[in-house]
Amino acid sequence: MSEDCLFCRIAGGEIPADVVAGNDHAVGFRDISPVAPTHVLVIPRAHHPNLAAVAEADPDTLVAMVRLARTIAEADGVGGDGYRLVANTGAAAHQTVFHAHLHVLGGRSMGWPPG
Ligand code: 5GP
Ligand code: ZN
Repeated sequence: MSEDCLFCRIAGGEIPADVVAGNDHAVGFRDISPVAPTHVLVIPRAHHPNLAAVAEADPDTLVAMVRLARTIAEADGVGGDGYRLVANTGAAAHQTVFHAHLHVLGGRSMGWPPG
């Protein structure tokens, strides 16, 4: 847990968030600035700077994050139509919070390529 990491503080319950689901490894909460009807962030409870770092350090947590994303998508009713998982990795890819997270996006049709 890093005191100056926003998502560590959300995972620790120090900063409030609209938490929708969680398990031993990960927690999901609604994005403060949603870009789709479903926009949930799934983060590891432990601090890792990005998703690749989670895969290196703790593969079980990576699996738990993807499973939690699916559970959240299904609970929000977008599991059938489809949803998008996004892991911006690095500043050039628009990562702005350097605690690993998956964006779970759904509830509208998506374009490709992403902007
Ligand atoms: P990134 O750009 O790093 O891929 O995504 C970071 C996401 O965190 C953004 O979509 C942003 O809206 C969201 N975010 C930033 N600060 C907060 C916050 O305090 N609470 C919540 N729920 N989401 C946040
Ligand atoms: Zn953190």
